[in-house]
Amino acid sequence: MQWSDLSLAHVLAAAKRIAPMARRTPLMQTLPLATEAGAAGVHLKLECLQNTGAFKVRGASNRILSLSEEDRARGVITFSTGNHGKAVSYVAGRLGIPAVVCVSEHVPRYRVDRIRALGAEVVVSGDSQDEAEVEYERIKNDRDMIPVVPFDDPYVVAGQGTIGLEMMSDEPALDAILVPLSGGGLLAGVALAAKLIKPEVRVIGVSISQSPAMLRSVEAGRPVTVEEKDTLADSLLGGIGMENHYTLPVIEEFVDEHVEIDEPEIEAAMYYALSEHSLVIEGGAAVGIAALQTGKVKVEGARAGIVVSGSSVELSQYLAVMQKFV
Ligand SMILES: *Cc1c(COP(=O)(O)O)cnc(C)c1O
Repeated sequence: MQWSDLSLAHVLAAAKRIAPMARRTPLMQTLPLATEAGAAGVHLKLECLQNTGAFKVRGASNRILSLSEEDRARGVITFSTGNHGKAVSYVAGRLGIPAVVCVSEHVPRYRVDRIRALGAEVVVSGDSQDEAEVEYERIKNDRDMIPVVPFDDPYVVAGQGTIGLEMMSDEPALDAILVPLSGGGLLAGVALAAKLIKPEVRVIGVSISQSPAMLRSVEAGRPVTVEEKDTLADSLLGGIGMENHYTLPVIEEFVDEHVEIDEPEIEAAMYYALSEHSLVIEGGAAVGIAALQTGKVKVEGARAGIVVSGSSVELSQYLAVMQKFV
């Protein structure tokens, strides 16, 4: 399939397919931020309340549920340090199919344990993500397993697109949607769904200054790598793949604007979610809130929706950040 073949029909099919695996999460008004931004309304799409703690279960389940019985029996494999690994482990575990998740030796123990607890076999090897990827290739070929990639796949894009579908159906008056951006599966899916439902809606990608690989690629008109620096928004780290086939062209076609958020802005947005709504959100999930709080995206008089993408954050790190505000 070419990227340009992706349509609303794929997103609608995904919505039906993934319903048993993924929750329809709430779209909740947030008044203080709306007042601060002079907006007609601001609505948070709470994927932090999604099964496994992040939206990735939508794309992963759309991919895995589309596999034939024969392919399911071969089992699925991925490499991931975070939410995608958890999602693959969860979906495969619920379907009773074999799953392998490859991670490097640097991935924290608590993450490995969480992925393993959901059912997957976790293979820890190598000093870096690249070395873990070598091991991933070896096992994939040796055991003839089916790869489930985190973002650059049409089923994954369509699965994440169900978020845009739900937002537009719960709040058809939305004028703008802000979406955290890393590899771009989430932004591509949401932009595709929202624009095909309502072409005049503004779709804004929100990157982190510490690792803006997709933003730099959009500027260059081709995939580029960037230096990755330490960030609280670890779910937004990583490149877009030098052989990107789907997320870059879909984002080029459907996304209107891009902004970058830095570390103190992420912290303030995480604190906003806790203090105003008692919501624990991870750094990567906070960037859309930050884009409005900082005024980097202007929504005066408009109705904005923000994807709050996940809640996977280590407790001690989270508490250390919140401590700064009390
Ligand atoms: C993966 C992830 C993102 C970014 O999604 P992409 O499809 O890689 O752009 C954002 N937030 C959270 C919590 C994630 O896990």
